[in-house]
Amino acid sequence: MSEKLNIVLFGPPGAGKGTQSAFLIDRYGLMHLSTGDLLRAEIHAETDLGKAARELMDAGELVADHIVIGMIRNKMEANLDAKGFIFDGFPRTRAQAEALDGMLNAKSEPITCMLALEVPEEELVKRLLGRGATSGRSDDQDEGVIRKRINEYEEKTAPLKEYYASQGKYKGIDGVGSIEDITSRLVEAIG
Ligand code: ADP
Repeated sequence: MSEKLNIVLFGPPGAGKGTQSAFLIDRYGLMHLSTGDLLRAEIHAETDLGKAARELMDAGELVADHIVIGMIRNKMEANLDAKGFIFDGFPRTRAQAEALDGMLNAKSEPITCMLALEVPEEELVKRLLGRGATSGRSDDQDEGVIRKRINEYEEKTAPLKEYYASQGKYKGIDGVGSIEDITSRLVEAIG
């Protein structure tokens, strides 16, 4: 068995994945891999990939699987000595989950668990509009785009709970409460 801790931090937009990742990285010495952050870096650098991704992100749609899978593969290969990874916003489709399993199984370092933050839709919309007012993230400023992202999540991403449950790796976490309380729930679930 591998000693590495590889966590999929899962949940709808606005569930608090980014906030909670920061604590888990510190506590367990993990490397943070956020496809949203990687895509925003491409947009910022004005690359061709960034230009193509921006339109989709601003419409609340998912970026193509091969693009995000390639970004994750590059980052993992550049960090082979990491103690483990925390995957944030990835995988978002079944094809992404299968590709990730393929990459990790080839190294005998499988996913340890999926921690799924559960938050009701109206609370998500409220949090994201609040974030949009201060962060400048364009996809957080329009309620229509927010609801589209939540729909994409329900349709394409939420089914991954079954994918990980069938491997005995799914752990649901109540994502409503104080940041500290939610961190404690995650730490307890990691065990
Ligand atoms: P949030 O969790 O608030 O939606 P993210 O930063 O994770 O924020 O993602 C922002 C956008 O980036 C998504 O709406 C989507 O367009 C794109 N994106 C991020 N990760 C992926 C992924 N794994 N697959 C496809 N698109 C992605």
